[in-house]
Amino acid sequence: MRKKIVAGNWKMNKNFTEGLALFSEVMHMANDELHNNQQVIVCSPYLHLHSLVQLSKGNVKVAVGAQNCYQAESGAFTGEISADMLASAGVQYVIIGHSERRQYFGETNATCAEKINIALKHNLKPIYCIGETLQQRESATHFDIIKSQIAEATYHLSEQEFAKIIIAYEPVWAIGTGVTASSAQAQEIHAFIRKEIAWQYNVAMADEISILYGGSCNPKNADELFAQADIDGGLIGGASLKSRDFIDIAKAFN
Ligand code: PEP
Repeated sequence: MRKKIVAGNWKMNKNFTEGLALFSEVMHMANDELHNNQQVIVCSPYLHLHSLVQLSKGNVKVAVGAQNCYQAESGAFTGEISADMLASAGVQYVIIGHSERRQYFGETNATCAEKINIALKHNLKPIYCIGETLQQRESATHFDIIKSQIAEATYHLSEQEFAKIIIAYEPVWAIGTGVTASSAQAQEIHAFIRKEIAWQYNVAMADEISILYGGSCNPKNADELFAQADIDGGLIGGASLKSRDFIDIAKAFN
């Protein structure tokens, strides 16, 4: 059975003190209220990562992820962080290719491929984000866009490597807008992604991969979204900044 995953993306929010307090609340609520087959991941800014890893030591329900890593091993890349550094701090996951990174920092499918490679090399599990813009949906090119986002960033991977990836389908028009994809729209794309993976790899692989939905997910709409056959959880932005909302979203699986 695929693991149920709810990952929070804090983006550039919460100072150090606020972040530690939020994480402690999340851990306590997760321990008290969530079942064992649910994985909560908190993707904080770099600043908090090491402390969050220390706080969550021995906790199987809550893990820590970064929001990005650089594609080179090390060197003169001022302001960047390496996969090795993240892994050495105990970080387990890394978001790659978030639409904000694609939009504001020029990331492409090709750079995502490099980032996925280096993340896997250092035993970080990539949460690879894909999704179409409103314009692409309206021009009915969204299936092609999603297909190429997966193919160009991941199809060079061996089966063993690909099995370590989590995919997050995040329609750009739904991120931070309050407009959620309907459960039918999300399910349609998730099923499409699974079919593509079965075609490229095999059916068993397609059945194994966790595919998360992201885009204005909240405690009110999580139940219906997560009830869809091919939706294995969520990547949560705004609602992950409030411990109660974040855990209530995860409880949609209870
Ligand atoms: C995100 O940034 O990944 C996201 C899904 O944001 P929000 O939940 O705020 O739409």
